[in-house]
Formats: sequence, structure tokens, C-alpha cells
Amino acid sequence: MTSSDSETPVLFSDLGLAEPVLRAVSELGYETPSPIQARIIPHVLAGQDVLGQAQTGTGKTAAFALPLLSQLAPEASGVQTLVLTPTRELALQVAAAFQRYAAHVQGFRALAVYGGQGYGEQLRGLRQGAQVVVGTPGRIMDHMRRGSLDLANLRCLVLDEADEMLRMGFIDDVEWILEQTPESRQIALFSATMPTAVKRIAQRHLKNAAEVSIAVRTTTAPTIRQRYWRVGGLPKLEALTRILETEDSDGIIIFVRTKVETEQLADALAARGYAAAALNGDIPQNLREQTVAKLKTGRIDILVATDVAARGLDVERISHVVNYDIPYDTEAYVHRIGRTGRAGRSGEAILFVAPRETRMLQAIERATGQRIESMELPGVARINERRVTRFKAAINQALTHSQQQFYRQLLGEFCAEDGLDPLDAAAALAALLNGGTPLLLDPAKEPLPTRSRAPNPKRERGDIPPGARGEGPSKGRPSARHPSAELETFRVDVGRAHGVQPANLVGAIANEGGIDSRSIGRIKIHDTYSTVDLPGNLPPAVVATLKKAWVAGRPLAISRFNETAAAPKRPGKPARITLPKDGKPKRSAKPRVSKGRPKSK
Ligand code: AMP
Repeated sequence: MTSSDSETPVLFSDLGLAEPVLRAVSELGYETPSPIQARIIPHVLAGQDVLGQAQTGTGKTAAFALPLLSQLAPEASGVQTLVLTPTRELALQVAAAFQRYAAHVQGFRALAVYGGQGYGEQLRGLRQGAQVVVGTPGRIMDHMRRGSLDLANLRCLVLDEADEMLRMGFIDDVEWILEQTPESRQIALFSATMPTAVKRIAQRHLKNAAEVSIAVRTTTAPTIRQRYWRVGGLPKLEALTRILETEDSDGIIIFVRTKVETEQLADALAARGYAAAALNGDIPQNLREQTVAKLKTGRIDILVATDVAARGLDVERISHVVNYDIPYDTEAYVHRIGRTGRAGRSGEAILFVAPRETRMLQAIERATGQRIESMELPGVARINERRVTRFKAAINQALTHSQQQFYRQLLGEFCAEDGLDPLDAAAALAALLNGGTPLLLDPAKEPLPTRSRAPNPKRERGDIPPGARGEGPSKGRPSARHPSAELETFRVDVGRAHGVQPANLVGAIANEGGIDSRSIGRIKIHDTYSTVDLPGNLPPAVVATLKKAWVAGRPLAISRFNETAAAPKRPGKPARITLPKDGKPKRSAKPRVSKGRPKSK
């Protein structure tokens, strides 16, 4: 990989965090600390007060939660950390984040306490005890006054989104709480902006504070068009595939936050027929270089990457950068979108923004001094129009195929024998090519996911299901998450000779069958077929769906291995239908494998 800006990133393990906390972070798939984490964590660990200028989305919660969890006194009684937040939503989020990061801290409890919730439950929770309490200022004050919240042993007070607390009129409450807590406590104050009232609090209460604000780099090339889509109405993955289907693209980089997500999203895209691969820090350097080389030469079109893995990447044909997950800071955004618009070309940057990330969007616009236009997702009519165009183009392209004359003669004889209209034969072949999936989306159902699949509530919620360990089943591990489901070996009709990789099989089987990719076991690729270990209790409907799924231009034709072992398939059987190999248009990252959807415009 070309690496023009290659300073070594800080690792979580360099920061002095406790082992159980490091383990949780690694299981969550966090690759490296975000800038605010790298700079704040050492100060919090050293017991110093900190003043952090950072907004939601920068990873600021972990910046204080990880070091505070690392320093919990297991034997101490009472509340050790109090976090004040402006809203109940943030209180719940922060408490949940503490709980996640403390997955391996024995006996840990974080409690959220906020206005609008009955006192009974909160009093019970406080009586049971919690090392960390997170709450809105008014309700925290109430509990302090009632004596139900004892802060005598408090070691750290975190003020989260101080400017928001000011805006919402809580600043006097915050001051009151500050004054009632032990003088010896550490204070960590976070604020997206630093209005005078917040600065005053900092001056009055923080001692020797380490001040951290993340430097902003403001240059984005004017040749890059920047757009954002407000997440909603359609799961992110479906929105992404709609964008991929309709944008005129060449090479694409999609940025996500975690290593696990790079694998999952690349698999999901591969299963939908895109030539996609993951790029993350866990992949050995030589493999990463091979992947980047494949992107350069067009053997793959889409890289799903983390910030670290894509640092300094210089590939001219990248026409699009998609920020599937919003970056931590404006600097990362500038870095990311700088992967396109290289060598004097124009480029497109698309950013997915969840409603709670609006402030980060505004921060990016402020820092770069450029407006990011809002974009609408392409509707069903537009998608269908593109599919029809690509379908026709694929046929046109196949007309020049070297086997054209042979098939023409064969079909001529076949139609003559059966008195079949050649148009009917062509339509049957087209249906076969599409593996039974309708070519067009149903216009009555807008917005609509692009593919039908077995219902899977986890997937319907939107994002790729969170994988906790960053280990793909393609590496041949048994189903650790589903110890109760007995695995059985299945045979699929695609093998090495057809260019299939384990990841293609995982993606296709997981998505087409609505099967959690973590329950897919060992995969063995043979020359003309492969075996895959799957839960033995797969419903017949799922097996039927999988039989029809296509990978590497061939139907999977899945069957239980025992059945096929009794009547083995002939090895080396020629593919029934394959897509034209050379039909790739210049600027297109359209599906290549999937259910035979045509790949050219
Ligand atoms: P926050 O700014 O604390 O609201 O965090 C924003 C999101 O980033 C949360 O969903 C975190 O789980 C995620 N996150 C925080 N730190 C990291 C990291 N180092 N790597 C990947 N994701 C992270």
C-alpha cells in the first residue's frame, strides 16, 4: 500500500488500560483509539482533571469510561464515578457504554438516573449499589437532597456535553452538584463548544487541567462533490446498495468504524454480487497490499476499510468515498474523502448521518468551510430503470461472446424440436440467469429492501448484526455463539475452479438464507465443489432458498453432504450459465456474482 501519511497509530494496549477493559474493547472490534481517546485516556488514568473539546461521535464516552473503569477500586463501597448528561437518552447511552466496556469487570454496575422516570425504581437501583451513576442534573440533585445518592466516596465527576447542559438551563444545578462533591474528586469536562459560562466553570473548578481539543485540518479538494444522506426509512445496508446501483462509479472505498464491520459489510456486499473486500489492521500487510493491488487493477471495485487501514491509500480509480459510519472528527473526514479526487480527477463523497450525529455534520461543514448537500436515495423507479438498462447492455455484450454461434445453433435445434418460440426460450434463460429473483423492485413497496430473504429480525433493524470477536467463520471456526445448534456438513456446487472464496460463501449463505454469519462453521473449498458446516436444523424453506442462490456465476445448488456422498455429483461438470467475464463497463461497480444480475449498464 502506498502510505504518504503513515505515522504509527497509538494502540489501546499502549495507553495503560486494565486488562479486562482492553479485552472488552478488542471484543467490540475497536481497532485503535480515536484521537480524543489517545489524548485523554493517559491524563484520566493519571488522575488529572481534563477539559476536552469534543462532540458526540468522537468516541469521547470511551475516552473517560475506559480509564475510569481501569481504576475502579473493587473493595470500595458507594458511587465512585458520577456522570452528568443533559438528556435522558445520553444518560442511558453512557450507562450502557460503561456496562459494555465493563463486560469483564466482575460485579460492575452502572445505573442511569433521570427525570421522567419513577423514583421507586431509581431508589431500588441506588440501594442495590452501583459504582457508576449517570444522570441528568435535576434528578441527581433531587437524590442528593433526599440522601438517596451518597457521593462521599466519589472519585471522579464527568460533565458530558457541558454546553448542552448550559443551553438547557442546567448550569446552576451543575455548579451546585460540583460544590457538594468531595474536593478531592477528579473532574473531566467535555463540551463541543466552549461558551463563556462553560469556560468559567472550568476555571473555577478544574485544577491543572489537561486541555485537549482535536486539531482541525480544513482542506478538502474543490473537485470532490460532498453529499450526505440522513439515515432513516431504510436500513443503512439497503440504502448503500441503492446508491451503488445508481451512481456512476469506478473504485469505491466504504469507511466503517470497526474491523468486524469491515468483514461483515464486505461479505454482505459480496453476497449481493459486488466485488468487495475488507481492509483492516488485522489483515497482514502483504495481504492488504494484494487487496489494494486488486482494487487498482479492477479485480475488485469496493474496499470496506477502517481509517487506519486506508491511511495514505492512493488509488487513482477511486471515484467514490462512502462514510457508512460517520468519522470521529473532521480531520478523519478530510483524510477519508481525500482518497478520491486523486490525480486531478473529480470525486464523490457520501456521508451517512444518523439524527444524533447532526452536530458532527455541522462541525465538518464548519471546519472545511464547505456545505455538504443533502441527498435523496434513489427511488424504486430509478433503480428499476438502471436494472433494465444494465440487463439490455449485458445481453448486447454477450452477443459478441465466443460461444454465441454454438448456443445459437443449440437453441435453434431445441426450439425447432419442441416448437418453442425463441422469445420464450430467451425469457426462460433470463429468469435462470437471475436465479429466480425478480429483476425489478416492486414499485408498490417504497421504500423496499433490494432483495427478498428469509425474515431475520436482527437484519431488518438495519445494520449488519454486531459480531463481537472479529473472527470470520471463513477461518473455519465452529459456531461459538450457537453451541446448542449441531452443525452438519452441506455441499455446494461451486469450488476453486469457479473462483469462489470462503467469504463469498459466508456472505451468500448468511444473506440469502437469513442465517447469522456466526453460526456458519468450517468451509472447505475443493476444486469443483465446496463443503460448508451449517446448523443441522435449517428449515427446508431456507435450504430451498439457498439452492437457488448464485455465487461466482453459478447456482449454489446446496445439498446435505450425506445425501450427495451417496450419489456424488460428477466432478468438473460445466457451469450451466455464467456471466460474461469481460463485460465490465469502465465506471461501474455493479453486482458481479449474486443471482446472476447483469453486471454492466
Ligand atoms: P461517542 O462519541 O462516545 O458517542 O462514540 C461514538 C461511537 O463510536 C460509539 O458507537 C462507540 O461505540 C464508537 N467508538 C468509540 N470508540 C471507538 C473506537 N476506538 N473504535 C471504534 N468505534 C469506537
